[in-house]
Amino acid sequence: MRLRALGAGLALAAAVAAAPARAQEARQFVTVDTPVVALTRVRVIDGTGAPARDGQTIVVERGVIRAVGADGSVAIPPGARVLDLAGRSVLPGLVMMHEHMFYPSGGGSVYNEQAFSFPRLYLAGGVTTARTAGNMAGYADLELKKAIDAGRAVGPSLDVTAPYLNGPGLPIYQVHALSGPDDARQMVAHWADRGATSFKAYMQITREQLGAAIAEAHRRRLKVTGHLCSVTFREAAALGIDNLEHGLVVASDFAPEKRPDECPSAAQQASIAALDVASEPVQALIRELVQRNVAVTSTLTVFETFAPGRPPAPPGALDAMLPEARDQYLRRRVQIASQASSPWTRLLANEMRFERDFFRAGGRLLVGTDPTGYGGVVAGYSNHRALELLVEAGLTPLEAIRVGTLNGAQYLGRADSIGTVAVGKRADLVVVRGDPSARIADVQQVETVFKGGVGYDAARLFASVRGRVGLH
Ligand SMILES: [Zn+2]
Repeated sequence: MRLRALGAGLALAAAVAAAPARAQEARQFVTVDTPVVALTRVRVIDGTGAPARDGQTIVVERGVIRAVGADGSVAIPPGARVLDLAGRSVLPGLVMMHEHMFYPSGGGSVYNEQAFSFPRLYLAGGVTTARTAGNMAGYADLELKKAIDAGRAVGPSLDVTAPYLNGPGLPIYQVHALSGPDDARQMVAHWADRGATSFKAYMQITREQLGAAIAEAHRRRLKVTGHLCSVTFREAAALGIDNLEHGLVVASDFAPEKRPDECPSAAQQASIAALDVASEPVQALIRELVQRNVAVTSTLTVFETFAPGRPPAPPGALDAMLPEARDQYLRRRVQIASQASSPWTRLLANEMRFERDFFRAGGRLLVGTDPTGYGGVVAGYSNHRALELLVEAGLTPLEAIRVGTLNGAQYLGRADSIGTVAVGKRADLVVVRGDPSARIADVQQVETVFKGGVGYDAARLFASVRGRVGLH
């Protein structure tokens, strides 16, 4: 006992001593950190959906955008560090809405926290704000957020979602099973008091529990989203839910013999694969969601991994994985590739049509990546893929970028400070080679990510976590 106590004491002492060193560690990724910076000769994609503008200058002072305009028309303050960004585009830092700090490396029943690798990967991918849509690790995401805000860790600004709100029946040890509406209300109050700013309901919640959670969150001016099943989209919209994750693929509204408060499992998926998205029942649901201002979060990245014949994770993402995690991913991918007729071909196509129609109907579409499934969705890399898949679904590149920037900022109530390239906003900016307004795949070519005016080198961030995803 004595020895163990001594060991624990030494470990803690070592951790405390490492804290200033960790702040130092962040410096290795920083390439631009002067009070005044001018980005010149650059193409600006401002995030509003407006056409890109070539030959622009952006002046950043103490972390805030002070001027944006044509080269030569904007005064560059004396002493500014001037960056010549010819051939590059600048877009707003991505605001990604279905992110997690966990990854499926626990054999299906445990999700391991990736507090070391994921924040770096997200930032490297141009994500400067992320909502963690559900968390498996209690206080961890909240403490990580504090560390990032204090400069002790490198990563995006986090909108932390509390641990999941779910009923009984989920075989994941980290998720509490609510006992009733009072428990739901107390859980929301507990985590809101400790700093959680968002809540996520899950597949086995009851209408009564969900209603209680929404009432408590709304009383505190906080929002609730859900990956639902036991509760239909229509029922949740009527209860006042703010956001639905994943879209049509998880809607139980069309399942045959749907029983109240029960998740219909396999029949649900078959019912969605069989749907015609253009049909009146689906279009009526879209109209209702738009009318009630319920946002929908696109997560095509994770669905794509379930469908055969789709591209694999990019080489960088494979390199980022722990060898065991990579083996698990590649083995499962081979199994999926061998399925001659998978419902996921049809499900993915229907999901894309649903998201396009919802967006065209004026719906508030958000985007995230959901790094779960069987490990093929790796933070950072997948954020680029998410925008590419929105374009495949039928949005223009400019619309997809708007969904990944301004729409998220508006949902979070932070559009006055983030989400577009505009005077007065925080200098969260992504510099990429090429022109993603014409070729969305160019969003992959991230060079520098500015967060609050400090520029981080994307390649160094990516390199720093090679082989770590799945480990920590
Ligand atoms: Zn998720």
